[in-house]
Amino acid sequence: MRIGRTLPPAAAPLSLKEVISGVAALFDGERAIERFEAELKQYYAVPYVFLLSSGQAALAVILTALKQARPGRDEVIIPAYTCYSVPAAVVRAGLRVRPCDIDPRTLDFDWERLEEALKGERVLCAVATHLFGVPADVGRLKALASRHGVAVVEDAAQAMGGEVAGSKVGTLGDVALFSLGRGKGLCTVSGGIILAGSGPLGRAIEHDVSTLPREGWTDALKALCYALALMVLVRPSLFWLPKGLPFLGLGETVFDPGFVMKRLGTFQAGLARGWREKIARLRDTRLRHAAFLEQAGVAAAVSFKGALPDLVRFPVLAEDPEMRKWLIEKSEEQGLGVTGGYPEAVTRIRELQGALAEGAAPQAEQVARRIVSLPVHPLVTQRDLERIAALFRGGNGQ
Ligand SMILES: *Cc1c(COP(=O)(O)O)cnc(C)c1O
Repeated sequence: MRIGRTLPPAAAPLSLKEVISGVAALFDGERAIERFEAELKQYYAVPYVFLLSSGQAALAVILTALKQARPGRDEVIIPAYTCYSVPAAVVRAGLRVRPCDIDPRTLDFDWERLEEALKGERVLCAVATHLFGVPADVGRLKALASRHGVAVVEDAAQAMGGEVAGSKVGTLGDVALFSLGRGKGLCTVSGGIILAGSGPLGRAIEHDVSTLPREGWTDALKALCYALALMVLVRPSLFWLPKGLPFLGLGETVFDPGFVMKRLGTFQAGLARGWREKIARLRDTRLRHAAFLEQAGVAAAVSFKGALPDLVRFPVLAEDPEMRKWLIEKSEEQGLGVTGGYPEAVTRIRELQGALAEGAAPQAEQVARRIVSLPVHPLVTQRDLERIAALFRGGNGQ
């Protein structure tokens, strides 16, 4: 275990002021929730906003509402390389996962494979995913999906705050979700947001959400303790400590469809106070750090030119799995915060074997073996960036 300066892979640091605002919101009750919802509605110019206990709960609610409208369809197309919470939410909603292979050059769908997948008569919706905050081509997906009467869900869990061609990420599909969890663009310890347009889908979600319980006092107490710990321990001077404690399971990826489904607590709504300014600040810093890495010769896995992404991490494809392993090992030794992505493609998740509507995704499996992600958050210093760039030039980063 390394003791000493260690960068977390991602961070949206919480301030004491925000934690105090979270505690104050506990006494404001419903008003704090309404305020956060109203700010989101105004910023995104959408009629419906719903606040849930997590991003995967948000996704499960969306999928359940879509299913109610189209009972004959039960398959969800998702990228074969994505967060395990996504297939978990599909299973939770009582639907089947149809993984679609990705294009290693964009980390977005392989469009030929997608067109084949869309021909399936049981396809309910397709999930566009802004992986690491890099904008996916939602317009292209919508054009293809609409020909088959398939809805487009925008998974912007990692991308809140990003923009593409002047449009805000989260307003590009038929319905969208953000995550407010740890390691996401904006963090309130836990939470999920749904943005929905007018029409029957918004009303169906509204009904389903109203049946869920709100997070209570014990949830709030847990979230408060977590926020205080996070506030202190996310600092690079201390992050080695939680990272070294195996029972915390930091950075582990688990597939668990049994997650809690509640409405967001008032504490988290209070923590989010000032989110618009914060998200703009975070995005600018992350983009500046990403630009430095690119200028220092670290090639991003995907070009994000022309977009204004909120890059929660900076993705790079290593030449081969050995190089990936070497980069991660060296980073561990030096505390540079370089991590792999998700351990496997969706097609390889053990718990899903035999339950998938499609079994092959060779490109996604290759990406899983080659991808690394670099930290670009505000706790990364110039010196850190120089050391990371040196590591990628084949040096030892010292
Ligand atoms: C984190 C994440 C989710 C789920 O969000 P949680 O708040 O962790 O439940 C969904 N999709 C993607 C792409 C994510 O990164």
